[in-house]
Amino acid sequence: MLIDFHTHTSASDGELSPSALMARASSLGLGALAITDHDTLEGLKSAASHVPDNLQLVSGVELSCLWGGANIHIVGLGFDVAAPAITALIARQSAARERRALKIAQRLEQAGFSGAYDGAMSVAKGAELGRPHFAKWMVSEGLVDSETRAFDRYLGRGKPGDVKTFWPALAEVVAELVAAGGMAVLAHPLHYSMTRMKLRALCADFAEAGGRGIEISSGRQTQDEIAKLTRLAQEFGFYASVGSDFHRPWQHGPELGVPTTVARDVAGVWEVVL
Ligand code: MN
Ligand code: MN
Ligand code: MN
Repeated sequence: MLIDFHTHTSASDGELSPSALMARASSLGLGALAITDHDTLEGLKSAASHVPDNLQLVSGVELSCLWGGANIHIVGLGFDVAAPAITALIARQSAARERRALKIAQRLEQAGFSGAYDGAMSVAKGAELGRPHFAKWMVSEGLVDSETRAFDRYLGRGKPGDVKTFWPALAEVVAELVAAGGMAVLAHPLHYSMTRMKLRALCADFAEAGGRGIEISSGRQTQDEIAKLTRLAQEFGFYASVGSDFHRPWQHGPELGVPTTVARDVAGVWEVVL
């Protein structure tokens, strides 16, 4: 079966509307899809009323949090959208994102880019503000020649706009997801540039907090990487999750859908949430 448990819509930094994303998933033959926008359920909620017949929609969200000074992403799956724990968690993430956006804007102002906050707001069109909106605004104003350049110089890791101090702790986010009846999945573990020892410490703390899943495939993963992550799943008793981290149709980027057969010798989260 082809599924995708990590995707974004225009409710966060994705390009497609929730219904366009589901239509694409359906036409590509996916059996199940989780919409996992950054820190918001708006895309998921608007999708819920018009799911194509042949597609199973799974509740999802991608939450930013902190662990040992690093910005970690947790994908929540299969929770009850109406649970008080998830509502409170999203409200908290939203407030943290707002404070972070103000701080990023302030840093960009200090770097000489005035009007950053209002500019990013106008680009976001009601979506939760994130660094990509600042990057788009900088390009539209001709302040940088590409979004990549905006990240390289001003918004990426170690740059003025790299603000992460406002996110809640990983253990807190995992506990709330579990309280809402969901499964917490460690997103794209190889994106954090951690040593093997540090990644294992993260997995141990994540499991201790109640985390039960780990992405073994997120976008373009090599066989080697999948094998490495599968071993990690086995070591900590995690279920394997798969997704594309799809943001937009792009010939150089991942397409929607990952075959569940990439999970060998380890149980898949889909065995629990579907
Ligand atoms: Mn994103
Ligand atoms: Mn992520
Ligand atoms: Mn993502």
